[in-house]
Amino acid sequence: ERVRLTRLRHTPAVTLDGERVELFANIELPGDAAAALEAGAVGVGLFRSEFLFMNRTDDLPGEDEQYQAYCAVVDAMKGLPVTIRTVDIGADKPLDRMSAHELRHEHALNPALGLRAIRWSLSEPSMFRQQLRAILRASAHGQVRLLVPMLAHESEIRGTFDALARAKQQLTESGRAFGDVQVGAMIEVPAAALMIDRFLDAFDFVSLGTNDLIQYTLAIDRADEAVAHLYDPWHPAVLELVARTIRAARARGRAVSVCGEMAGDPSFTSVLLAMGLRSFSMHPSQIAAIKQQILRTDTRRLSDLLLGARSDAPTFTPLRNGGGVAATPP
Ligand code: PEP
Ligand code: MG
Repeated sequence: ERVRLTRLRHTPAVTLDGERVELFANIELPGDAAAALEAGAVGVGLFRSEFLFMNRTDDLPGEDEQYQAYCAVVDAMKGLPVTIRTVDIGADKPLDRMSAHELRHEHALNPALGLRAIRWSLSEPSMFRQQLRAILRASAHGQVRLLVPMLAHESEIRGTFDALARAKQQLTESGRAFGDVQVGAMIEVPAAALMIDRFLDAFDFVSLGTNDLIQYTLAIDRADEAVAHLYDPWHPAVLELVARTIRAARARGRAVSVCGEMAGDPSFTSVLLAMGLRSFSMHPSQIAAIKQQILRTDTRRLSDLLLGARSDAPTFTPLRNGGGVAATPP
């Protein structure tokens, strides 16, 4: 088994009918990059930078400390692309040392609907620019992509690009080098999936955060055991939002990826391939299993497979002529 998996590591993920698929790794700390390479990832599709900020009681990482951490990943990945997500602090990932601003929200009744991710970053402008500068500086050493979590509002899109422009200006003024950074948006709030065209106008790429997309589409707190049985990735409304995002991105020639748990779940591989997805990002331990699924898939036969995707759920099937994914009663 080990020998087979090692062989698989060097095998490109190509379907039986020759469709190339990119398998990226999700990482949480720079030390995880080794496992990503070991698993044969073609890059880091999601570096959850908030883990640098968590479990810190006295201080938060400053610009230089962040820069070192990002460079460590870029170097470890030996020239492969590294997608760094700006902090997704709040909700299930609280800070130990809370900022004055966040303290005011400490008792949020619904933290998942509260000040988290890009909302938190935009409420802490100097910390946000500090992180952007660190990421930009790391881009002078390799292929860095910047990914922004939980965007939903036009004002947040504008706020993000304003902050980025200021961070670049500050670096230029202080004579610091930075490279070309592609900027991507996480699509993980239904509003973003529904206004996907605006996101495709503004961003170089999009990445579907299915964990949060499920949470927000179904109004199920992903951390609440009492409703865990209703957290259903197969819900037709979720599949519809995923499918329409992938379709819209492909129609515009923009890169689209899934970096939520769905991407690393082998029971979803053929569904996502059928929707047109060709880029997946997952925990390194899932890469071999997903690759095996891809190697035995013929995408030309997928509409048949989709009909039987799950016997106890409403069947969904891609509509012809570029339509959506429709739910039909069993
Ligand atoms: C997601 O929401 O699917 C995602 C990838 O981000 P996180 O799990 O870190 O919220
Ligand atoms: Mg998320």
